[in-house]
Amino acid sequence: MNKTTLGIIGGGQLGSLLASAARKIGIRTIIFCNDIDAPGQKFSDNFILGEYNNEKKINEFVEKVDLVTFEFENIPYTTLKIIDKIKKVLPSPEINQIIQNRLKEKNFINNLDIKTTSYVKIKSIEDLKSNSKLIPGILKTCTLGYDGKGQFKINSIKDIDLLTIDYKKEYIFEKLVDLKKEISVIITRFGPNSYEIYEPIENIHENQILKSSKIPAKINNEIIDVSKKWAKLISEELKYIGTLCVEYFIDKNENLYVNEIAPRVHNSGHLTINSHNISQFENHIRAVCNLEKRKTIKLFNAKMINLIGNDILEYRNKKISNNEFFYDYLKKDVKKNRKMGHITKLFTL
Ligand code: ADP
Ligand code: MG
Repeated sequence: MNKTTLGIIGGGQLGSLLASAARKIGIRTIIFCNDIDAPGQKFSDNFILGEYNNEKKINEFVEKVDLVTFEFENIPYTTLKIIDKIKKVLPSPEINQIIQNRLKEKNFINNLDIKTTSYVKIKSIEDLKSNSKLIPGILKTCTLGYDGKGQFKINSIKDIDLLTIDYKKEYIFEKLVDLKKEISVIITRFGPNSYEIYEPIENIHENQILKSSKIPAKINNEIIDVSKKWAKLISEELKYIGTLCVEYFIDKNENLYVNEIAPRVHNSGHLTINSHNISQFENHIRAVCNLEKRKTIKLFNAKMINLIGNDILEYRNKKISNNEFFYDYLKKDVKKNRKMGHITKLFTL
């Protein structure tokens, strides 16, 4: 039988880790990316360089693959639609259209009777001033934000006048949640009511960037159950195929809110490579390539630490202990706030 060839759009660390997982189970990968230095090309079988709106390059990519998935949600919807007409794109492009936009995403979640923080659409400085009940809050661009980019903290009315933003863009203003904890739930949906779901992961952010993740999360049983239930409901409602992550806030009164949905594998799930028999990446590949669903079992407790910017330099020469696993994303340049690698430590159950 011929090997399946999976196309992956995006060649960052998530694309790299997807390609490595695919290789492990005999799936070929071709990465399509607009970055000539994309680290993913070191892990995939083939690489095509091109802008995400370059139809010639898109066609060259599509011809070579059996189906397509992606490592990040901000790919132009039209690109995904062009591809989907020729080869299947999973998860489906329509899902991205909702999740690419923070406003549509939060409306979708609230329509399922799932709680989020209070929010409002912002089109002008007047809109902001008339929503002072949401202060302290965070103003976010509706599209194209990640790792805290495109976010502005507003602690008082005075801060609004100091903003130098382009109101022609779409924004959402969210009430700040008085955080006790952040958790995420990663789920892989294979089809109607067919899932593998990982236990909630506890996450620590620094400067709005994920710093570390661990299992088990120290949270009560009700939050464990509800966070998993909501992740199932969201993926079922989206008719999602593949791995998806739901990010949650827990406030000081133990209220649970969905922060956002990532329609892809997620940084907080990197620990599953070592803590489980099947990682979030392998489960994603299995689901999109229509392979057999295997029972996912936890083997170890774990903590994952992101190596951001210069953090990586120390680890490149460090002796790693037996219960530690070091991943270098092999990015060309070390940059401040750039995720360069991660380390996972395992603990017995
Ligand atoms: P990104 O797309 O950059 O991940 P998020 O909306 O998840 O954007 O914000 C990044 C981080 O910023 C969150 O994980 C959280 O730590 C903090 N944050 C964002 N929005 C809020 C909020 N409404 N209340 C409290 N903290 C927030
Ligand atoms: Mg986030």
